[in-house]
Amino acid sequence: MRRRNVKIIATLGPASSSAEMIRTLFATGADVFRLNMSHLDADGLRQVHSTVRSVEEELGRPIGILADLQGPKLRVGAFANDSVDLKSGNDFRIDLDETPGDVTRVCVPHPEIFAAIEEGSQLLLDDGRIRLRVKEVQKDHAITEVTIGGKLSNRKGVNLPDTLLPLTALTDKDRRDAELALELGVDWLALSFIQRPEDVAEARKIARGRAAIMAKIEKPLALTHLQEIADIADGMMVARGDLGVELPIEQVPGWQKQITRLCRRNGKPVVVATQMLESMITSPLPTRAEVSDVATAVFEGADAVMLSAESAAGDFPAEAVEMMNRIGAQVESDPTYPSIMYARETQPEATGADAISAAAHSVADTLNAAAIVCWTNSGSTGLRAARERPQLPIVVLTPIVETARQLALVWGVHCVLTEDAKDLDDMVDRACNIAFKEGFAQPGQRIVVMAGVPLGTPGATNMLRVAYVGSPAAAIPE
Ligand code: PEP
Repeated sequence: MRRRNVKIIATLGPASSSAEMIRTLFATGADVFRLNMSHLDADGLRQVHSTVRSVEEELGRPIGILADLQGPKLRVGAFANDSVDLKSGNDFRIDLDETPGDVTRVCVPHPEIFAAIEEGSQLLLDDGRIRLRVKEVQKDHAITEVTIGGKLSNRKGVNLPDTLLPLTALTDKDRRDAELALELGVDWLALSFIQRPEDVAEARKIARGRAAIMAKIEKPLALTHLQEIADIADGMMVARGDLGVELPIEQVPGWQKQITRLCRRNGKPVVVATQMLESMITSPLPTRAEVSDVATAVFEGADAVMLSAESAAGDFPAEAVEMMNRIGAQVESDPTYPSIMYARETQPEATGADAISAAAHSVADTLNAAAIVCWTNSGSTGLRAARERPQLPIVVLTPIVETARQLALVWGVHCVLTEDAKDLDDMVDRACNIAFKEGFAQPGQRIVVMAGVPLGTPGATNMLRVAYVGSPAAAIPE
């Protein structure tokens, strides 16, 4: 049982892929593990997936797995001596010749770049640390001027903030990775560098309902289609790493707020990612600014905050998760939290699920109930209940393990796997019993139960009951 509503996603990598470390990270507070396909091959994916699932089985709690596809990430090729020191003011040629590069040139193996750049276009290398400006361009090479120099090593990323590229949403590698990830049974697929809602639709076709789709927002063009992307995706990630390279970095906090608000309004889970506790890659304690950054995302009502290199490759993975856990719990108990969280009202939409969720929230507040308990098969009742951001626990009961794992990423939701209820009485009795057993309600307290009747009918949330939790002796088996 967590003492916070915001969820924690920890990226797994060399520092954290052992069963022992995954167990520690889960115990310390990680709810979902992210597998970064930029750094995993098929065997690596199989192995780490199976390790997480064996830890899940051992601990008896649903754990979410998010496979993050690499997407059409552009990179420079390799250098003869692995790296070069580029001097500002010098010319530097980029071309399609795969011969290892030197201080005068390097391969950029993406012909579409040469078709799209123009004189004056900017190329940002290695997360924007190095900048080139195009002086002249041909179909197989370009001469650029180094406007900001520095050390450039093999296969660093390339961003073109002012060039519109005809990028495919899913590369061949993404399709292969997605197929394997879906076959293994990951819960979320994250799509990198999407630009249009059609990109999400393409991934949906591949997923065929086997995993939820998370749209990573990191391209300026995606920002112009946010509502349509929110409509079609199951969740969004504010991927601040690439977003901060593609956009003037000072615009990222404003977009973080807009994307978070949009997702909360739409009832779609939203993740704030990248550099949240960056200094903890090498230090056991974060900076004050990093703590404040995580706190801001929690105050904004993000569903989840994410660790990247801190947990994947850092020296202090468990300490980083523990720190996020402490920040989440502290912010949510801060006296200013409710007023900030509820500063923006989420109006119910004209659906049974929203009407019942809003009513459940209000009834629970009026009665000072101990918890809202939702029955759900697809997870949608749980999502709509979480959209209300109630100030009391949301316990989600489901017979479907995939639903429980997907909801591990969602604000405030505590999922319990249980058999389908036989009838209405069983549904209410079981809700009381589990709320007690899981430590959310004491005998004599009331809970608010919501469900769709007949049970198992998708999208039919239509029932709300207030129930007293009886004595544990009357407990009904799960
Ligand atoms: C990001 O750019 O912020 C991000 C999460 O993507 P990746 O770590 O895959 O670059």
